[in-house]
Amino acid sequence: MEKWFSINKIDERTYAISEEKHWEKPNCFLLIGNKKAALIDTGLGIGNIREIVDLITDLDIIVLTTHVHWDHIGGHRYFEDFGVHKLEEIWINGGFPLALDVVKINLEKENSLFPTEFKMDEYTIFQGKPRYTYEDGNVIDLGNRNIRVIHTPGHSPGHCCFYDEEKQYLYTGDLIYRGKLDAYYPSTNAIDFYKSVKKIKDLDVERILPGHFDVSLDSGILNEIYYAFSKLNNEGILSSSHGIFEFNQFKIHI
Ligand SMILES: [Zn+2]
Ligand SMILES: [Zn+2]
Repeated sequence: MEKWFSINKIDERTYAISEEKHWEKPNCFLLIGNKKAALIDTGLGIGNIREIVDLITDLDIIVLTTHVHWDHIGGHRYFEDFGVHKLEEIWINGGFPLALDVVKINLEKENSLFPTEFKMDEYTIFQGKPRYTYEDGNVIDLGNRNIRVIHTPGHSPGHCCFYDEEKQYLYTGDLIYRGKLDAYYPSTNAIDFYKSVKKIKDLDVERILPGHFDVSLDSGILNEIYYAFSKLNNEGILSSSHGIFEFNQFKIHI
C-alpha cells in the first residue's frame, strides 16, 4: 500500500504526503519540530498514512485538522492525538453532515487508480473524540517550531489555516488551492470565505501548502483569489447567486 502515497520533501523538516493517484489529489503535511511532529490532515483513509509518517520520523505525532471533511480526516484513526477547531468537534464526534453513500459517490466521481487491496464496501467515514480543540490564535509548540492556528471559516465553519511563522509557510487546506474552490454546500458561506481570504492575504508568506493538487504554490495566488472574491462580492454575486465562476488559475463555486 506504500505506493498509494507519494512523499515530497519541502525542506529538511517539512514533508508533503500526497494521494496523487486519486482525482482529488489530497495533500497532508508533516512538520518536524525538536520535541514532536505535527501532521496536518490525514487524507482519504485509503491506505495507512501512519506507516508513511513512521518512515520519516519517530517523534510523537499531533494531528491538526484543517477541517472535518471526509477527505481530510480519513487517516485520523491511526493517531490518538488529534485536534479540530471547536466548531467542528461535533462533526468529527458523530455529527458529520454527509451520508456515507454521498461520500462514496465523491470518492469515485472521477477516475482514480485505487490500490488493489482497497475495498469500497469497507470504506467508512472516520468518527472519534478529539483529544483537544483549538481556536483562532492558539499556538502549537513542536519544539523550536511554532504553528499558529488561523480560523478561516467559509468552506466549512471551523476551517483553519496553519501558519508556520518562522518559515513563513501557510497551510491552507481547502481555502486556497489551484482548482475549484467550493463555497456552495449548505454548510459553506461564500461571504465568510471571502473574509477569510482577506484575513490571510497580508501575512508574510513564503509558500502556500494547499490541501489539494499542487503540493506547494507561490504566495501570489493569495492576492489573485482575494481579487476574484472581491470582484464577485462587488457584483453582489457572493450573497445572491449560484454558479461556477472561472478565473485564470482557479474556479470559484458558489
Ligand atoms: Zn473540504
Ligand atoms: Zn478537501
